[in-house]
Amino acid sequence: MRKLLLIYTGGTIGMITNAQTGALESFDFDHLYAHIPELKRFDLDIHVKSFDIPLDSSELGMTHWQELATWISTAYQDFDGFVILHGTDTMAYTASALSFMLQGLQKPIVFTGSQLPIGIIRTDGKENLITAIEIAVATEANGQPILQEVAVYFEYALFRANRSSKISAHQFEAFAAPNYPLLAKAGVQIEWFKERLFRTSLPTLQANLSLSNEVLMWRLFPGMPVHTYEKALHFPEVKILVIETFGAGNAFSNPSFQSALQRFIAAGGKVLNITQCQSGAVKQGAYQTSTFFEKIGVISGEDLTAEAALTKCMYALANVPATELASFLSTPVVGELTRVNS
Ligand code: ASP
Repeated sequence: MRKLLLIYTGGTIGMITNAQTGALESFDFDHLYAHIPELKRFDLDIHVKSFDIPLDSSELGMTHWQELATWISTAYQDFDGFVILHGTDTMAYTASALSFMLQGLQKPIVFTGSQLPIGIIRTDGKENLITAIEIAVATEANGQPILQEVAVYFEYALFRANRSSKISAHQFEAFAAPNYPLLAKAGVQIEWFKERLFRTSLPTLQANLSLSNEVLMWRLFPGMPVHTYEKALHFPEVKILVIETFGAGNAFSNPSFQSALQRFIAAGGKVLNITQCQSGAVKQGAYQTSTFFEKIGVISGEDLTAEAALTKCMYALANVPATELASFLSTPVVGELTRVNS
């Protein structure tokens, strides 16, 4: 019988309403389990692991990602697939982080959650969980898992984890991956788009659990008080600055902004340029307003999502030598970016 590890971290799917405050609060896995009797009908050996205290995903951070990566790497040989139930708010961050921390995957890790709690009649949680499980144990005729990467399943669509973002706070279609097409679509059947699936070139799983949060992110905006922001670049703890720029990687030619970046880079810092547009890529040098970035050695993040850019930096700072950081950040590692401009 195929074995699945179901990990429950919290999120709306398992929440119930606090009668006093009216706010949704996390609840334990038994509550969730009681609402999905279908789980018992799977012809699968399902094991469950749960955070001691289930959390709203806004509470999760690096230590939780490390805990999840440790659980999976420890259980890796014993299970055919993994499903992680997670709040939707920061799911794309956790899922992106795991894609960098668990390289060489040859088994599926599927994240899912829901917009409505499982106890609500119109919940989207049931379908999301049941199909995520089916995806996590789906095999080719030769017994190999179809999916061999970290993915997010939500509302009939399967996305590559490090291409996904939460795009809606109220629609059931809460996720999208504007720069990479769907890996699979769930209808009456699960329709796989196999040519889009990631395949590792590594022979075995390589779990690298170290992370560093010596990263800053600036979303540029017209009228930005550069002198205030610039102060943060003087902290020695800041090693990478991610800038979310306009359009295809453009910014104002404010002299304080330019000299702050120049000083930061001269002192050994790295600057990674991603676009604040939902889709498309950075193309430094396409406009006069991005030529400066090319000149001073700002790294093009191409079509990285903000979630993938940040978690890739957090992974890279702890695992990649400083001399290789720039090329690591601009090269696809686990299918997270497309080299549009080379
Ligand atoms: N606040 C919740 C969370 O991210 C939202 C959700 O799960 O949909 O945990």
